[in-house]
Amino acid sequence: MLIIGFLIALFLRAILNDRKDPEINNSEVSLIVEDWKRDMSEIGLDGDQLIKRLDYILVVDSIPHGFLNQQKTRDIMGRSDWGSRSIYILSRGYSPGQLKALVYHELAHYMFDIKHGKKHEIMATYIKEEPGYYRLNWDYLLEVYLEKCKQAR
Ligand SMILES: [Zn+2]
Repeated sequence: MLIIGFLIALFLRAILNDRKDPEINNSEVSLIVEDWKRDMSEIGLDGDQLIKRLDYILVVDSIPHGFLNQQKTRDIMGRSDWGSRSIYILSRGYSPGQLKALVYHELAHYMFDIKHGKKHEIMATYIKEEPGYYRLNWDYLLEVYLEKCKQAR
């Protein structure tokens, strides 16, 4: 009986958690998330619903370690964590294009479990530091990204 009650509580918590938007502590990131939701609708996905799977999208001074992820987090600029229903973005200087690519990158890990892709992509392991790279190539990069999201959904 106790176990059933516990399972029901967990289930209810999961459902209720999925009903509210995540807390975002950075206005630039909030705008990027709005863009992302719009881009999701381009491929027939409901970004407004998807985003509710997250509780937090936080720009932080250091990326927290995950429970099963104890390796060094130096050099890591973003991390998505299902356990805490959070995406963490390292606070540092980004160009607007870099920040957008980074937020999209982490959202794809979190929502669709998409793995790292080729060097030039939004899903590449490392962020590009070339000035203007994301801005100048965004249309193409977005197309590749959305195709991956569509396949992985
Ligand atoms: Zn990644």
